[in-house]
Amino acid sequence: MAELIAVRCEACGGAVAWTAGKPAPACIFCGATALDTYTPPEGVEPPEGFLDFQVEERAARQLFKKRASDSIWYPSDLRNARLELKAVLVPAWSWSARLETHYTAIVAGHTRSGKRPVAGTDEWAADGVLVPSSPTLSRQELTAISPFQSAELRPLGEAVLPYELGSLTRTAARAQGEDGMGRAHQARLRGELAASQVETATLFHELRGGPLLLPVWIGAYRRGEALHRVVINGQTGAITGSFPYSWWKILFAVALVIGLILLCTGGAGLAGVVSQAPRRF
Ligand SMILES: [Zn+2]
Repeated sequence: MAELIAVRCEACGGAVAWTAGKPAPACIFCGATALDTYTPPEGVEPPEGFLDFQVEERAARQLFKKRASDSIWYPSDLRNARLELKAVLVPAWSWSARLETHYTAIVAGHTRSGKRPVAGTDEWAADGVLVPSSPTLSRQELTAISPFQSAELRPLGEAVLPYELGSLTRTAARAQGEDGMGRAHQARLRGELAASQVETATLFHELRGGPLLLPVWIGAYRRGEALHRVVINGQTGAITGSFPYSWWKILFAVALVIGLILLCTGGAGLAGVVSQAPRRF
């Protein structure tokens, strides 16, 4: 296998893995051609492998069309928007652990206030909680298109070059991973206890984490001046992004409702006049 090096774009700062000795590629983020070799910060580990795409481009476009017709409040022609779509292997960290969470919570009870405090300990095995390792994907986007099945990790040598390099060190990724797992456990407890308030402190046992590459379709389309972005899970087809509302449709609906209200109250007034009318004779 050819030796891999890291190259970074001078224009946007995006870093990718590339084959040593080959002329540097154009930047996969901004298209600039001035890419320089660089040494990734100490503690930034190469990915352990990658997850392959299961969703083809055609299917990804179909998913966008379907999502774009999901709401009657979207513009009618949204499904035909010109979508620029790119397959990207996005760097992330995957974390697993056994969580021991100590909690206090406020739940419903037969007291005067209708509430009572409870406290306890709960255990939960978190598996494959993901943290993005580059600015390509936000944490909200990654959460929205999760989960990925990380059991099918393929060797890095088979990944298409160039792929993006992560920028999170193990220490930083671990802090975010623990935070993500802790929040997930807190959300579970809130649901299980039907609690209005939950405070937690978590201990992590058998903590394991590693960097990997996730298959993601990143799309962009324009509506007037605004640029919208969609992100699709390349393994499951889960989709998230920004979809504009049609203000004409909403204004029309509001006008229709106001018109109906006026018609009804106007009608009631008229009925009053009619019912009173016989008394005058
Ligand atoms: Zn660039």
